[in-house]
Amino acid sequence: IYILAIESSCDDTSAAVMQNDITLSNVVATQKIHEEYGGVVPELASRAHQQNIVPVIHQALAKAKIDKNQLSAIAFTRGPGLMGSLLVGTSFAKSMALGLQIPLIEVNHMQAHILAHFIKEEDFNSPGFPFLALTISGGHTQIVLVRDYFDMEILGETLDDAVGEAFDKTAKIIGLPYPGGPLVDKLAQNGNAHAFPFPKPKVKGLDFSFSGLKTSILYFIQRETAKNPNFIEEHKEDICASIQYTIIEILMSKLKKAVKETGIKQIAIGGGVSANSGIRKALKNAESELGWTTYIPKFEYCTDNAAMIGIVGYLKYREEIFSDQSISAKPRYVIP
Ligand code: ATP
Ligand code: FE
Repeated sequence: IYILAIESSCDDTSAAVMQNDITLSNVVATQKIHEEYGGVVPELASRAHQQNIVPVIHQALAKAKIDKNQLSAIAFTRGPGLMGSLLVGTSFAKSMALGLQIPLIEVNHMQAHILAHFIKEEDFNSPGFPFLALTISGGHTQIVLVRDYFDMEILGETLDDAVGEAFDKTAKIIGLPYPGGPLVDKLAQNGNAHAFPFPKPKVKGLDFSFSGLKTSILYFIQRETAKNPNFIEEHKEDICASIQYTIIEILMSKLKKAVKETGIKQIAIGGGVSANSGIRKALKNAESELGWTTYIPKFEYCTDNAAMIGIVGYLKYREEIFSDQSISAKPRYVIP
């Protein structure tokens, strides 16, 4: 089975070719244009997708050494994401499937972040069912109980900002360029995580909240720089380490609660924030201290990419779960 997968939910245009559960190619065109605005500008994102989509698909097919006539189906991200961005991938996928007379497969982006764990890779074991998935990205923060490929239940999610946003917005407060997450991580490595204690929010159940943290950091920085204008420069590493520590404490305490409530100790993480060295360390510690088994896929499968859409395409193809030409993009699309 050869699946061409298209991902265009946010600011990366990506196309992948899968041969069953193996990635033959996974091309990502990142849009640089948003950096100067300090965040993704939807209108610019959809225009860039429009420009990128044909070359990216060409490259994906060429790298995989597959002709379009060999394709078995086309999978695409239907949502969640930005409407203008989703429309580009959705329209393209529909037209191409129609032209080639092959099945069309819609994919939920958040389900794909989780099912990315089933892309076959050397040195990577996929989790067995059931497991808990922690999806941490620029737009989402979710704990999902995964009973089977297409049997998932969201146990908790953020009530306001996503964890990636918490990183990026606090990074902005201390003057770091967008996206600030990776920079906070880097600076944190040389800082004292206990230098500045920030309050942790009290949120019911397994839900999260990160907007309060952002506000308390803003007030803290304003207060300190009023006393010492060079405060940020002098304490940048300690500030970053303290922010990162607090965010990871919030994530880990909810994960521990989820493990306690479900009795499931298999934890799979995904989303761009899985790159964070602090969360990786915390998960490794939980393996030895709490007996968890943790799964972290290759970084290229953590951030937005089409291979994760392709693996869902393959899993749906096997079960003949196809879509028809009446399908449309769905910006607010919760895991079905
Ligand atoms: P979504 O998948 O919800 O639509 P997205 O596509 O914006 O959101 P990703 O590409 O998965 O999200 O992840 C991007 C986020 O990951 C950014 O907020 C970025 O700051 C954060 N990030 C990347 N690397 C790190 C790191 N090492 N430490 C902390 N955050 C990081
Ligand atoms: Fe994503």
